[in-house]
Amino acid sequence: MTLTTEPTTHTLPIADMASVRRHTRGLLHEHRATLSKVIGLHALAALAGLVAPRLVGALIDGVTHGTTQAHINTLASWLAASILLQTVLVWAARRASFIMGETVFAQLREQFISRVTGLPLSTVERAGTGDLLSRTTNDVEALSQVVRFGIPSLFVAVVTTVLTVAAALVAGPLIALPIVIGVPLIWVSTRTYLRLAPAGYLRERATYAVANGVITETVDGARTVDALRLGSRRRRRIDEAIGSCFDAETYTLRLRMIWFPQVELAYLLPVAATLAWGGWLVAGGHATIGTVTAVVLYVQQMAGPLDDLLMWLDEIQVGATSLARVIGVADVPPDRSSTGEAPSGRDISAEDVRYCYRPGHDVLKGVSLDLQPGERLAVVGPSGAGKSTLGRLLAGIDAPGAGRVEVGGVRLVDLKLDHLRGEVALVTQEHHVFVGTVADNLLLARPTATPGELWTALRAVDADSWASGMPDGLGTIVGSGGRNLTEAQSQQLALARLVLADPHTLVLDEATSLLDPRAARHLERSLAAVVKGRTVVAIAHRLQTAHDADRVAVVEDGNISEIGTHEELVAANGAYAALWRSWRNEPEPPLPETGPSDAHRGPDDLEALV
Ligand code: ADP
Repeated sequence: MTLTTEPTTHTLPIADMASVRRHTRGLLHEHRATLSKVIGLHALAALAGLVAPRLVGALIDGVTHGTTQAHINTLASWLAASILLQTVLVWAARRASFIMGETVFAQLREQFISRVTGLPLSTVERAGTGDLLSRTTNDVEALSQVVRFGIPSLFVAVVTTVLTVAAALVAGPLIALPIVIGVPLIWVSTRTYLRLAPAGYLRERATYAVANGVITETVDGARTVDALRLGSRRRRRIDEAIGSCFDAETYTLRLRMIWFPQVELAYLLPVAATLAWGGWLVAGGHATIGTVTAVVLYVQQMAGPLDDLLMWLDEIQVGATSLARVIGVADVPPDRSSTGEAPSGRDISAEDVRYCYRPGHDVLKGVSLDLQPGERLAVVGPSGAGKSTLGRLLAGIDAPGAGRVEVGGVRLVDLKLDHLRGEVALVTQEHHVFVGTVADNLLLARPTATPGELWTALRAVDADSWASGMPDGLGTIVGSGGRNLTEAQSQQLALARLVLADPHTLVLDEATSLLDPRAARHLERSLAAVVKGRTVVAIAHRLQTAHDADRVAVVEDGNISEIGTHEELVAANGAYAALWRSWRNEPEPPLPETGPSDAHRGPDDLEALV
């Protein structure tokens, strides 16, 4: 069955430009008071900067027509005062802008992190970590530049340009006419650039995401790459990914290479034109040299803010595409919605559950299962049959595509996440030690736990001796950059978290199979303490686990083909019986259900069978 709930794309959504604009407007509106202050300060700074050309003009006219030393001194003092005032105002305005930029950026980053941590796990897995990593690093970084420096500079540039044009027109309306010469050139070249650039930048960002993904995958799976001699193939893929980045960057670079010189020309032309035009006016007696000087200085002064404006316009394009990717994360539909209903019991059941990773390829094909509270169910079956997938659904990590997985009559996906973790938890070999104290790592499971409760949890998993031996006890910093914990200690920390979360049902997925046997034995004791009194679904790789369980479910090709006690299944002489006999190396009875080759397999072949 093809499931309609399965998304077909494999990257996280990207917000459209309308949402980006809406979001930006929302942010500007929210910070309007600070924004007005920032713009006001920049306007004052720009006004102070406009005094100098007028004074220089007056000075020249004074010198030309004859003046006194006292008059020159006064003008010079005003000049110095205006420059000093401008410096102070620019400092205050920039400071206010940067504070505003940092505030807005911090807010964006917090929103992003809360959205990312709220993403459905299945979505993250399907999209791959590359896309998310690229959004968290490249895009957030690009955005930070724009928000911290770009937006403030944009305001400065707009305010300064408008005021400078006004000042030039006031100083000499006729002389300032050539200002408009550059406008058509800027207009046409910028319009063309802005039409082509967004797609180019989006492509650039997307190629970064792919390159990030390929490189992290290769580094994460370095051992596998080595073992399977995939080195050259991975290098080729990395080369291809970097090649696409290069192509995408070359394209946007070419756009800029065409646009920048045109713009440069657009604001040099008016300076030259004003000078020539002003010279002609002076020669005809229509203007004084001082006024022409002032206007030319104004026109020349416009180059700075205009340059800033256009440069940031370019960066803002990059920022907008990054913002589209950052806020696009919020467009992932939630895979669960809390109804607030409370489960009426502790019994977990699956009813006609289907699940697929790719549309049209069901991995679970209608599985039904009732767990009795307190029982231990072992799940066995060939590799790829769907055992881990079933485990994830029973633990509420993924939502079934069809059918229901319930606890006490309430669907697991209708429970709030923290509530769900108190009902059922998945235990895998993956156990992350978060950077922070031992206590921080434990409190994640129950934020309100007291130090006494933390120690009780550590004691329960046999971890209290090493924890109390650490320099600062519960306050010792662990994780990357802190004190390194061994594999077994990290796993025990994860188990202690489980004790604190106290779910009544545990799904164990190959919880200890990859550890070295000594550590595994030690951990098994810790695990035994944790599973005591809880319902347990153990995805078993060793048949001993199945033998010791209350019931065994055999999963084959997305279905439960057999379920019952060990004895019942051995007596039934089906797939499980064949596995069990081959594990025990017992001769095959002459029954047609299983192939004769199975009988010759020893315990080493178990992995292939189970
Ligand atoms: P088992 O635990 O029995 O080995 P799994 O539940 O891990 O089986 O996998 C069942 C099938 O689903 C396999 O064909 C596997 O390749 C596929 N599968 C598992 N995880 C993913 C995933 N994240 N994306 C796509 N396919 C997957």
